[in-house]
Order: sequence, then C-alpha cells, then structure tokens
Amino acid sequence: MLNTLKRVVQDVSNASSLEQALSVMVCSVRQAMSTDVCSVYLLDTQCNRYKLMATEGLKQIAVGSVSMGSAEGLVGQVGLRVEPVNVASASSHPSYRYFSETGEERLKAFLGVPIIHRGRVLGVLVVQQAGERTFDQGEEAFLVTLSAQLAGVLAHAEVTGDIEQSFSEKKATKTIKGISGATGIAIGPAVVIYPEADFSMVPDREPENLDDELDKLHAALDATRQEISAIEARYADVLPQEELALFDVYLRILDKDSLGGEVARKITEGKWAQAALRDVVSAYMRSFELMDDPYLRERAVDIKDLGLKVLARLQEKEPRRTTYPERTILVGEELTTPMIMAVPRDQMCGIISVKGSSNSHMAIVARALGIPTVVGVVGLRLGDLEQKNVIVDGYQGQVILNASDDVKKQFDNILLEEQQLVKGFETVRDLPSETIDGHAVALWVNTGLMADAVRSQDRGAEGVGLYRTEIPFMARSRFPSEKEQLHLYRQQLEAFAPLPVTMRTLDIGGDKSLPYFPIKEENPFLGWRGIRITLDHPEVFLVQIRAMLKASEGLNNLRILLPMISSVFEVEDASYLIHRAWAEVQDEGFSVLKPQIGAMIEVPSAVYQAREIASRVDFISVGSNDLTQYMLAVDRNNPRVANLYQSYHPAVLRALADVAKVCNEMKRPLSVCGEMASDPAGAVLLMAMGYDILSMSASNLLKIKWAIRKLHFEQGKEWLAYVLSLDNADMVIAYLKMKMNEEGLGGLTRAGK
Ligand code: PEP
Ligand code: MG
Repeated sequence: MLNTLKRVVQDVSNASSLEQALSVMVCSVRQAMSTDVCSVYLLDTQCNRYKLMATEGLKQIAVGSVSMGSAEGLVGQVGLRVEPVNVASASSHPSYRYFSETGEERLKAFLGVPIIHRGRVLGVLVVQQAGERTFDQGEEAFLVTLSAQLAGVLAHAEVTGDIEQSFSEKKATKTIKGISGATGIAIGPAVVIYPEADFSMVPDREPENLDDELDKLHAALDATRQEISAIEARYADVLPQEELALFDVYLRILDKDSLGGEVARKITEGKWAQAALRDVVSAYMRSFELMDDPYLRERAVDIKDLGLKVLARLQEKEPRRTTYPERTILVGEELTTPMIMAVPRDQMCGIISVKGSSNSHMAIVARALGIPTVVGVVGLRLGDLEQKNVIVDGYQGQVILNASDDVKKQFDNILLEEQQLVKGFETVRDLPSETIDGHAVALWVNTGLMADAVRSQDRGAEGVGLYRTEIPFMARSRFPSEKEQLHLYRQQLEAFAPLPVTMRTLDIGGDKSLPYFPIKEENPFLGWRGIRITLDHPEVFLVQIRAMLKASEGLNNLRILLPMISSVFEVEDASYLIHRAWAEVQDEGFSVLKPQIGAMIEVPSAVYQAREIASRVDFISVGSNDLTQYMLAVDRNNPRVANLYQSYHPAVLRALADVAKVCNEMKRPLSVCGEMASDPAGAVLLMAMGYDILSMSASNLLKIKWAIRKLHFEQGKEWLAYVLSLDNADMVIAYLKMKMNEEGLGGLTRAGK
C-alpha cells in the first residue's frame, strides 16, 4: 500500500500542469483502488461552488460544466463536515444530487474525502462503485492518507494562481508569494536570465594535447577574471568597498591556489578542461550543499555561477550581452550578486529570484542599492515571465503577473504616492522628530554596510541603534583580524561621530552563519546563537571588543550591545569580558572612555527578566524581529508560516509594553531596533509605550518622522490603550489602518503584519 501511495503522489507531483496533475490523480487512484469511478472537485472560492475538474469513469463532457454549491450534494457534505462520507447507496442519501451530464445513475457506493491544506478545504476526492457496497475502513484510510498528500500539490497550484486560472476563461491576475528581499514597488518588463552554460551537457573526453588544454583553461580563467573585475568597476562608485569585498573572494576562487589549480591538476591527470572543471565544481557543490546551512549553500551557488562563466569561456561563448530595457525587472532561478550587477543601475528597477533568502548577499546588495526585490518565489515558472510586464511588491514579498487593469492601477497609484511622499518626506529632514504637541522620539538607524552610513547621514539620523557586525564578517573567508575590525569599526564610528553608534557583538547562528565557521544543528534558531557562541569563544569576543574600543579612541561614541540574551549570567559574563578588554586596551596605551553596555531583549525569558537584566546594563534594546519569532514560535524565514508571523499579535504587543514599563520605571534608556519601528503604525505604538529611540533602516527614517510629526502624543496613547484590549492581530491591524487613514497617513501602513 505504501508503495502505491508513494507512486501516486510522485506521479501527480511530476505533472507539468494542474490539469495534468488532476487527470493523473483520478486515473491512478481509480486504478489503485480498483473502483469504477474517481473524480476530483475543487472549490472555487470566488463563487463558493465545487467544480468537477477531472474524472475517470464519469462522462468527460461533465468536466468543467458540473458544479454544486458548497453545501450541496454529497460532495458538499464532505466539505461541510470536513471528514469522509462513505455511503453504500448514494441515491437514497437525503443530500444526494443527480447530474444527468455525468451518467452516474448506475453508481451506488460513494466515498468522498476532503482535500485539506492547513485547515482549509481545497476540494473533494471521490470514488464511486456500481454495486451497492460500503468501502471498507482500509480503503477509507488509504484515500484520506492520499488526499492529505495531494493537498500539498494542489496548495502549490493555488499559490501560483493555476487553480484560479483554471476556473476562468480569461487570464486571471496571478499573485505568487515569496519573501521580501528589499522593500518598494517596481513595475516593468521582465528580463529572464538563464545560466550561460550547462555542466550536464559536458561529455567525458581525454585531452588531445595537454599543454593546449591547460592554455585554454588559463585563457578562460583570465577572461572570467576580467569580466568579474569589469562588473566590480561598474559599481565601484555606487557601492562602497565593504560590499565589493566579495568580488575579491571570487577572484581568489579563480586563482591557481584554489579552483583554478584543482582544475589544472585534473587536466594533467587526463581529463579535458571542460570535464575537469565540471568535476571540480560539482565536488565543491556537493560538499557545500551537504552543510545544510543557508550561508554556505549560497557560497555553493557562487561557485557554480563562477564555474559556469569559466565553462562558457571554454566553450568559446562570448560573454552574454543582454539588452536591458528601461525599468528592467531582472528575473532568474538563482540570482547572484554578479548577475544583478551586470545590469546598469539606472536601468534596473526590480529583482525577482526563484531561490534565495532575505539574508543572501544578493538581497543585502539590493537593499543597499534600494531596488525592490522578492526572493524565494518557489511557485514561479520562469517561462511565464518572458517579455511580460510584472509587478514586484517588495513590501509584501510577492510577484504579480497578468495584472488586471484595476490591480495595475492600484500599484501605479502606490508608486505615484510613494514618489510624492518621498518628496514630502524630504521636507522634514531638518525638522525635529516630535509629535505636534512636542513629544520627542529619537530616530536612529540600523547599519551593517558602509552604504547605510552614507544614506543615514543625508536622512538626518540621530545615531546608530544597531550596527550588525556579522555582515562584514560574512563577506570574508576567515574571521577578520583585530586590525581589520578596528579599521571597519573606525569607519562607522567616524562617519557618525559625535553621534552614538551601537555596535552589536557578533550575532551569528540561527539563519546567519559564516562560511569559515559552519554550525550544523537540527534546530538552529534554538541552538548556538548570538551571545551563546561568543561566550563559548572568548578569543573571538575579546578580539572584537578590543577592536571596537580601540576604534573609539578620541571619538568616545561607542555603545556595545549584546544579542540573544536569555539569562542574567550572560550579561554578567559578557560585561566582565568587556571590562577585561577595556583594561587591556588601556594597558596598551589607548585612552578610551568606558563604553555604555546594553542588552537586547528578543526572547521571552528576557521579557520576564527585563528588570534583572536592565539593572545590570546601561541601556536596553528590543529586537522585535526575533521577539516576534520566539513569542509566537514562528520561524521568521519560513514562508509556510509567514501568515502566523505577526508583530501586531497581542502577545507581542503586551511583551513590548511590559518591557517599556520596567525600563521607564528604572529610567533605563530604551530602544527598538527591529522592523516594527520601520512601520509608521508600529512606531506610533512604540512611542506611546515609552520607547525613547526607534532604530530602523535609513530608507524608512523620513517616512517615520513625517508620520510622527502629523500626530499628537495623546492620540498614540489612545491607539495603544485600544489595541492592548484586542485579542487578535487582524483586529489590531484593521484598527491601526483605520486610524492612520483618518489622519491621512493610510498610504504609509502597508508592511503591517
Ligand atoms: C531583531 O531580532 O529584531 C534584530 C534587530 O536583530 P536581527 O534582525 O539582526 O536578528
Ligand atoms: Mg535578532
């Protein structure tokens, strides 16, 4: 039975379209259960009717034409009861409905099971038999098991809009969900880029002449190096050195001591260059992919991308010369940084990558460049996009195809509104960040790249609330030395001095890891993360702290922030190490003031021990991204549960308010450095709770200031009191949207989840 089940699910999953999947489904189920008929009905949510979508055994003419209301017939009963309906004689059942088009008068026995995905009925799977009989429990259990697995395939088709489209004649607007890589809206023609070559097409061959083959390899490596350097040069004025560092890594990979050397060795062992390259690249890929770590997997993608460039040169293909129309939306299966940087900046307005995560280097660069980006759009078929106009919704992390005129108009309006707002926002740049009645809240920025520092200054940031030190660590092939770190930190501190800069100690683990420090765990978000790692590796922690302290000499604007604190001993141990490093640095002759030390509150235990933690530090900063994840037990990067990741969940709001109460009582400076502060409605609530500093990405700063300056502090308090009385996030969001609309700020609150 298990094998049959696996086979059916496999066959259905391999189908190339929804129509084919449904017909394979009915055919194989009928065969597996030896019944006369198997049919599948899907629920059209637009009209709330079940439609016969495929059958094996009923008349084919009925497909697409027979439908029944969601509470009608035996099929409706299955959907209503969300459990199997198994009857020996269907026609004598009170709910039975007869459709002459189907030719089902001879059929007696009926077994229908719901197709349910995450609590929602997508359709009903039915088997029928001519004789009067009851399907036995084994058969019923088999159909239920099968249906549960098929639900996944159908849910995928639903996400891609295939189901909706199959219900209507006309091409429906398709919304395909992904993850936001960079916020903003972009509308333009899609340019799909495919890999330049294909390793699977490379045959095994012996080299005709060893020296010729080695010459070919070196020429191909040289050409690739030149190509990479040219791409780097094109963006040299746009991106700062920090982000360009990855290009040096690429160049090193191509070196004779690395990939280049290994390929040459394989050639001397008797393989022609193309096969030698293929084997070396696949060996790298295999070992990286095995690591099961998002960051390292991404390095595998980089190596494959580089390998394909070299292969294309070996095959004497000229480098790709794609023409990019105005407002290009770049689309690809797995876009890398060099791929996006091959497009001139002023011609690219959006990016879509089928694979990838919001932490990939490509997404980080896209954010630095301010290009709306959606990644992880697993439901997207590249072929559907060729030459089409698409909409990238970087706020909601979705891609819209075949947009109807109405939908298109809506997005055009958002774009227009955004442009007008940006102009309006500019006017508040030099004004104080305070409410109409004079309540001030400081607006700081989150940084990680030098590009952020530059942008922050022209937006009037009053300080840095979070400098994510792991970001420069990620673009390297080993831990940066104390001297290298000192240089990096000095740049940040100098760029903002005399304004304060909050440097967070290395926060790796979870979804952020370093290629040279792999961590393999079953459950990384609950594992070795943030302060847990650095306390276990004082040698790494102390080097980092010493570099920070030395970098602050003469500036004295450093604040040190400890991530992922879940117990007071972590604050005590880390503070002890910081004091030790401070003493050492002074012994070395540096004259540095003792920096302020702060703790992050981003896990529930820290919320409940806010008082004890706050009494041991100079300031508190709440990480609302992780706090939401840990309060709600919802992985912040998992698209399956993205709808449950709700920063406006009452539990999260109460936790935030509780922390504020404690810190206000203790007079401890308090900030938020998670995404919530970037949403105007969130910023208003946080201000009303008593947060003194809101830290956000530079691109949101003027928007938040603009919103705050339009309101009274008392209004914020009223909104807060009301939302704290609500019991679910949807109501909180609806209320906040209503209030923002009343104040003419409606267009601003899109991000709210
Ligand atoms: C947070 O968790 O809210 C936060 C600011 O830290 P990060 O997003 O870097 O985990
Ligand atoms: Mg965090």
